[in-house]
Amino acid sequence: MLERAMHFSHTLLKEVITTGDTVIDATVGNGGDTILLATLVGSTGQVLGFDVQETALTTTKQKLLLTGLGQQVQLFHQGHETVASVLPANKDIAAAIFNLGYLPKSDKSIITQADTTLKAIQDILPNLRKGGLLLIVVYYGHEGGQSEKDAVLDYCQTIPQEEYTVLQYGFINQRNQPPFLLAIEKK
Ligand code: SAH
Repeated sequence: MLERAMHFSHTLLKEVITTGDTVIDATVGNGGDTILLATLVGSTGQVLGFDVQETALTTTKQKLLLTGLGQQVQLFHQGHETVASVLPANKDIAAAIFNLGYLPKSDKSIITQADTTLKAIQDILPNLRKGGLLLIVVYYGHEGGQSEKDAVLDYCQTIPQEEYTVLQYGFINQRNQPPFLLAIEKK
């Protein structure tokens, strides 16, 4: 009954996103989130997806082709720290999602990093619409993950509560550092 962090992130995305919305997949990876986002925004919406690895984008493009959801998705082979350069000027963002860490079954040395993750978060937050959500699934069990986790948590604790609500969701009695979710809601 208690959903795992990634599952709960999907539950929240389904709550907040409606047809025609503009949303961001900050870490495309194998495309699981991209597919969900593309389904939720529909053919009139827009998904902006980022990844630094070509192989992730190739896998995801294939999934989009097979599901017929490609029309509403734009994939960028560039880091999410460049998100400000591609944000549409006149549209608020309904939701953005990050899955931190490395691409499963791939090079474990290519991981998201504190400085670029924080830059992307800070560039997206002001563009969220009222009630919009920025979600971060924090995987941190890998080498290099702990410092990114600390930096992201530290930053999230400083976000002014007059403007945003910040939730931390995760299990606290499990071995092996299970991922947890940070959800930032624009008031
Ligand atoms: N740990 C998660 C998956 C994370 S995938 C799980 O186990 O399910 C993280 C993705 O972020 C990878 O595909 C990686 O290539 C990508 N990535 C790393 N740095 C990035 C950056 N600066 N901008 C966008 N994507 C990045």
